[in-house]
Amino acid sequence: MLKLDQVSKYYRSPETVTQALRRVSLSMHAGEFVVITGESGSGKSTLLNVISGLDTYEEGELYINGEETSYFTKEDWEYYRSQYIGFIFQNYNIIDAYTVYQNVLAALIIQGYAPDKRKERAMELIEKVGLKDQAHQKSSTLSGGQKQRVSIARALAKDAPIIVADEPTGNLDKESGKRIIALLKEVSQEKLVIMVTHSFDHVKDHATRRIRLFDGEINEDKVLKPQPEKNVKPSTMSEGMLLKEQLYIAFKNLLSAPKRLVLTMAISLFIVAIFSLAYGSYVQSSASPNQFTFGSYLFNNHHESRIIAYRYDNQPFSELELNQIQALPGVSTVVLFDPLLDMYLYSETDFVSFNPLPSAVLSTRDLREGRFPQSINEIVVPSQSDLEVGDRISLNLNTYPRYGWWDRPDGMDPGMAVVREFEVVGVYRAQTVRYAIVHDDFFTEPIHQIQTLQGAMNDIHFELILSGTRQFLFGQTFAFIIDNQLDDNTIVIAQNLATKVGLDPSGEHAQITFKHPFITNPNPVSVTLLRDTNTSHQNTLTLSETTLLSLYQSEIKQISIIAPDALRLPQTMTALENQHPEVQLNHLASFEPTWNFDLGIFGRVMSTIGIIMLLLAMYFITYLSLRNIMQSRKKDYVIFRSIGASKRDLNRITLIELILVFSFAASLVYLGLFINALIPSVIPNFLNFYTFTDYLFAFILLLALAVLLGLRFNKHIFQDSVITALRVE
Ligand code: ADP
Repeated sequence: MLKLDQVSKYYRSPETVTQALRRVSLSMHAGEFVVITGESGSGKSTLLNVISGLDTYEEGELYINGEETSYFTKEDWEYYRSQYIGFIFQNYNIIDAYTVYQNVLAALIIQGYAPDKRKERAMELIEKVGLKDQAHQKSSTLSGGQKQRVSIARALAKDAPIIVADEPTGNLDKESGKRIIALLKEVSQEKLVIMVTHSFDHVKDHATRRIRLFDGEINEDKVLKPQPEKNVKPSTMSEGMLLKEQLYIAFKNLLSAPKRLVLTMAISLFIVAIFSLAYGSYVQSSASPNQFTFGSYLFNNHHESRIIAYRYDNQPFSELELNQIQALPGVSTVVLFDPLLDMYLYSETDFVSFNPLPSAVLSTRDLREGRFPQSINEIVVPSQSDLEVGDRISLNLNTYPRYGWWDRPDGMDPGMAVVREFEVVGVYRAQTVRYAIVHDDFFTEPIHQIQTLQGAMNDIHFELILSGTRQFLFGQTFAFIIDNQLDDNTIVIAQNLATKVGLDPSGEHAQITFKHPFITNPNPVSVTLLRDTNTSHQNTLTLSETTLLSLYQSEIKQISIIAPDALRLPQTMTALENQHPEVQLNHLASFEPTWNFDLGIFGRVMSTIGIIMLLLAMYFITYLSLRNIMQSRKKDYVIFRSIGASKRDLNRITLIELILVFSFAASLVYLGLFINALIPSVIPNFLNFYTFTDYLFAFILLLALAVLLGLRFNKHIFQDSVITALRVE
């Protein structure tokens, strides 16, 4: 039972006070079809708004089932509306982008109607209002009468006991109007229907009671057909929507307006792309090649195609094992003499320095010009270098490239570095100048291998066994001098080196075991030790090439597997792990890049500020570009609220929509970047620099952007109360 007792309503403006309702007293119950008439400005809408809790009243009391409402808070009113009131508006207020079915279904979802019976119930209601054939038609294509029937089906879906209709036939032709009235009459069997109209004639056959207003007062209150008094029962409301339902509505909202979705997506894509590229270059600028070491062995070559492999038991690989590994899919080449990849090819005149790589790391489409090397004297250089096809360049081969001659081990004669003449036969697309492509024979050439053994920096040492006493030469900085004039199995030791270890060699026989982190010779080699008479030799060991080769060339403990297909690298790794569980694999390129300290703390702070500025700029650009789109949805939101959706649920739905759009845009952008990494293009391959943390971080930042935008839109959307928002519409 709804009861008004001496209710007055005033509208105040700075100049005037209008009394819209004057001490209105009324009581109504379910089963009645109450028609309110009166001239324009007589207070009809005001009365309706007060009854439906859309507007407040100043004096008197409104009772719902005996409960006073004058102390109600804003939330209480929201709850009251959701429990008791179903609206039918003159201008329908249905969601145009939805189908008839979706409009009704949305109301059932908001209502918390049993999920398994929703579909059935929606169709039942649609049938009831005679729209069965139009159920899956988009609402924007319906006639006025049909739209009004949708709004009635929706009001019924809500199952509220009081149906409030403000001139529901105002926009309709006579025939459609009649059907609506008949429908409302039917509804009033169970519910209280209160309807405002200009022309009583249209409803006189169906109305059970007529109330005439004049200047805010009840002028006439006449029961035309007495009805048995029934109580208005509040509808059972759910505790807000489930996440699943919010997701459903968010999806529907996105998909039901394809044009809007495309536009929103385009803007998000643009923003996410700019952000990902900027963030990629930020990560790139702050990442430096990491210094990965094995013992004290320093790996210089971190190419993504390189997988370093050694046995867990530190035993050499068998021939069979090596053949099996070589035959695995995804494996292009196995570099058996692994340290060669870490060596530098550098030119002191051209100021370039490369790590060598076999041709297998590239495919033909990576070549910008020329061809792959066909002999050991040919080289393919990165496009970032100034070299061109046809250029000749002489490159020093050794392990101390980054330093000048002054940085080399004591006594290591710069002149003794192996120098090779190369002809540039190809240029490949690259973002760095780090790697040059050489012929596969480069990695098997003994003299090249010897060059990598220069210096103890890479943890090479000898174990000398002299007539039962053990002497060690290790941790020393030393260099080899190759002198093929020397007898085989003779080693000439520089004076200072001999003194350091307390040796005074003069033709002693010794057993030598050569030690290197991953090249071994289990069999000691017998040699004759001689003292070096050349006093300019410091820390050197002079020996013939044959002698040196006999010292180390034996068993292979470590290899580099070249797996150039970055896409399939994880599979290759997995296949290796599964088929060779005895082998430890290291993919250096996957190790997290360390901060480049050359950038300095200042540089880091600056680039971080740069990223934050970029984010802020993006936030405003996105906000401005999405604002109109979001504004256009304001009406939908008001409609949702008018059919009982809570502000909280709607806030969530906006957030979910934006998160969905942004996540999708982000996936597309990263897919794009991924494809970009595979084909030659002008966009740098930033993904190389993204680690898992970077992906996570970038994603969280984008998500934060979406959430901030969502919150801001929500604030705008809910600025106005439902009634003000509806009035504007
Ligand atoms: P009806 O629906 O019968 O045309 P209303 O209820 O809209 O009448 O209006 C009743 C009176 O209250 C009118 O004098 C109108 O000018 C005034 N009124 C209605 N709404 C407002 C408002 N938001 N602000 C000020 N005055 C209002």
